[in-house]
Amino acid sequence: MSMPQSTAPRDSMTAMDPHPHDILWAPWRLAYVQGDAAARPPTVEPAAWRAGADRGCFLCRAAAAAPEHDRTLLVLARSASTLVIVNRFPYANGHLLVAPLDHRAGLADLERDVLAELQQRLAEWCDRIAARMEAQGFNIGLNLGAVAGAGVPGHLHWHLVPRWPGDVNFMPTVAGVRVLPQALESLWEQLR
Ligand SMILES: [Zn+2]
Repeated sequence: MSMPQSTAPRDSMTAMDPHPHDILWAPWRLAYVQGDAAARPPTVEPAAWRAGADRGCFLCRAAAAAPEHDRTLLVLARSASTLVIVNRFPYANGHLLVAPLDHRAGLADLERDVLAELQQRLAEWCDRIAARMEAQGFNIGLNLGAVAGAGVPGHLHWHLVPRWPGDVNFMPTVAGVRVLPQALESLWEQLR
């Protein structure tokens, strides 16, 4: 993927300075809004499709990929039934997605133990982000169905968005974009 232009030295974008002092425009978000094909996740040849997988679904593709491609696909963790992945089109720094490995559209379509495992992943990754990025709060949400804003309505995924005091600034209002202090790949390295 192409790296964004930064207005600050990369050295300042470290765990030592997790607060959004360094303004980084979010070109990947704009590309997503504009439907730019170049902004889509890189194509990785799947190792093994899961039963019922949708081959056009980026979460199914990540679930099917071999772990050696985790960095390319920004996959942070895999477990028996779940996947944790950096959101390629984040609304905030540290925005992750937690999803079942299987392509399921409804909560009632998930087995009880998978639901429990997803909750466990959310708890673990809140802890990890709090520890490594000094996040002081989180928004956790599930957009259920296209009408509710789900970008991939066929494959459930929880959004985990860390929050810091003063992290919402004037940029979304005046410029229609959000600013992010950290590139996606450095975020992956920090949290992995
Ligand atoms: Zn899927």
